[in-house]
Amino acid sequence: MKLKSLEINGFKSFADKTLIEFKPGMTTIVGPNGSGKSNIIEAIRWVMGEQSAKGLRGDTMADVIFSGSKNRRAMGRAEVSMVIDNSDHYLSSPYNELRISRRLYRSGEAEYLLNGSKVRLRDITDIFIDTGLGRESFSIINQGKVEEIFNAKAADRRSIIEDLAGVFKYKQNKARSQNELIQTKDNLERLADIINEVS
Ligand code: ATP
Repeated sequence: MKLKSLEINGFKSFADKTLIEFKPGMTTIVGPNGSGKSNIIEAIRWVMGEQSAKGLRGDTMADVIFSGSKNRRAMGRAEVSMVIDNSDHYLSSPYNELRISRRLYRSGEAEYLLNGSKVRLRDITDIFIDTGLGRESFSIINQGKVEEIFNAKAADRRSIIEDLAGVFKYKQNKARSQNELIQTKDNLERLADIINEVS
């Protein structure tokens, strides 16, 4: 599995469509302070399904949309696409190449695409779950993250280890099933009330 390219358009400081191609070997991004290096890393986390605006240094998710500069008007939409070579099928997907896109409009409307088809957020996060690339993995380490991990509560550290160990997926499935059970129980109770009323 290999990150092949990243296309950023209207995301944070990237008002122009910007294509970054990752060639074999190591890639280093250099630039003056405030030139957008961290924004590139955040674009990767965002397209992988990041849900925390704070985790992207914003107050609301709309803060990721280019907010304008002296010479340019704000944009109405942010879009990031990431192309992954999955020919070794490291990610649990039948595709040899994955193109994952996320769009967000100022209206709040959001879209995720997988190889051009609209999918749910869950379809995207499921691809990365338990691969060591999940939300709390060590594959992306931001400024201050090392210190944060050392100072984290035991429970938070445990969730990092669970993600790496492959347990997280099962915990998520369990939580989803429990929610469905609660909803089904509620529905059954409502049904019993209706039956009581009509009988
Ligand atoms: P440093 O070396 O200081 O860590 P950096 O190269 O990592 O800097 P970033 O933190 O990625 O830089 O970029 C910060 C810049 O992005 C700031 O100039 C900020 O104004 C700009 N920026 C962030 N969000 C937006 C947005 N929604 N619209 C326009 N510009 C934005």
